Amino acid sequence: MPISPIEKAGPAAAEVARLMTICNACRYCEGLCAVFPAMELRRAFPLADAEYLANLCHDCGACFAACQYAPPHEFAVNVPKALSSLRARSYARHVWPGFLAPAFAKNALAICLLAAASVALFIVGFVASNDAGALFAAHAGPGAFYRLMPHEAMIWLFGAVFAYAIFAIAAGLRRFWRATGGGPIAARDLLAAAAPAGRLTYLDGGGAGCPVDDEHGRDRRKLYHHLSFYGFLLCLASTLAATLYHYGLGLQAPYPWTSPVVILGTLGGIGLVAGPVGLMDETRRRPPEIAASTRSGMAAAFLWMLLFNGLTGLALLALRETPAMGGLLAIHLGFVFALFLSFPYGKFVHGFYRYAALARFAGETRRPRHETAHGAIGI
Ligand code: SF4
Ligand code: SF4
Repeated sequence: MPISPIEKAGPAAAEVARLMTICNACRYCEGLCAVFPAMELRRAFPLADAEYLANLCHDCGACFAACQYAPPHEFAVNVPKALSSLRARSYARHVWPGFLAPAFAKNALAICLLAAASVALFIVGFVASNDAGALFAAHAGPGAFYRLMPHEAMIWLFGAVFAYAIFAIAAGLRRFWRATGGGPIAARDLLAAAAPAGRLTYLDGGGAGCPVDDEHGRDRRKLYHHLSFYGFLLCLASTLAATLYHYGLGLQAPYPWTSPVVILGTLGGIGLVAGPVGLMDETRRRPPEIAASTRSGMAAAFLWMLLFNGLTGLALLALRETPAMGGLLAIHLGFVFALFLSFPYGKFVHGFYRYAALARFAGETRRPRHETAHGAIGI
């Protein structure tokens, strides 16, 4: 028997195509999220469309809980698991440069910890080679951090790795967009995607909240995701404010507790601790049928990196005028470097791919149905 193109695309894509064909006949879940209305615009599910739908899915689990064809039914429909599996493969398929994907997929946490330790040791060695006593001395007042590592050295080191991460993510996102059949994108579709992305509209099972059985309690992943995401944005805002203080106002860190830099950083740090801890707990408590694909190494490594960044950032803030500051600064900067380095190769990219899928969904649902139907695109 000849092998169809979707079978050639791999078992994960073939399973999504099989399930979407069943769901397209059933349509019971069409009000739960964006995946089912997008599915209904298609009659066939080649790899490009399957990857698009996989990244449109928010992994709420509602369609598994609602499905009358879930195992032990012979159809064995498990949409969250199939989409999650293909979604993870799409990150690896489009990552730039591609040869780094397997290394991070298998050893994400180990690589991150190694990178963090290397940078922390580099900073300790850098300080020790200039003035070993400075590492264990208490420093206070403007410029205290820079007595350990010059501001310019910090900017070059972290600016370079951040710029590399942004470039690599953009290259991967471009590959994803092209591979999933995305053409020119309208600004209004990008804007339309902002609200569902910012609110995580499709992570609530159609409005009733992510369903889990009584044994597993209530699913608060949306809350913890918000804490993680907005915690990260607050930390970014704190860094931008610090840059403004340094270059615009000529004021050197550390800044007073009441300054916007510290307030934003403190709130962000709390979010980066509470969010990942909550998400790890929710992941542990998810029903095993849909949990397997969410416990991948990349997802876990990303949460650990966020948590370590939050914890070490808050510890540095609390102990910045004590002799512990030198060691904590080296450790915190090590974790910041590792987080930046892992951005293109870890779970961080899911935000960009999902946003792109939401923008495409906005465009599809804005246009007349006959313009967006993809029944003619066979496999
Ligand atoms: S997940 Fe199950 S119930 Fe929902 S549309 Fe698909 S087949 Fe129907
Ligand atoms: S977002 Fe939820 S309801 Fe929609 S496909 Fe994914 S798991 Fe199913």
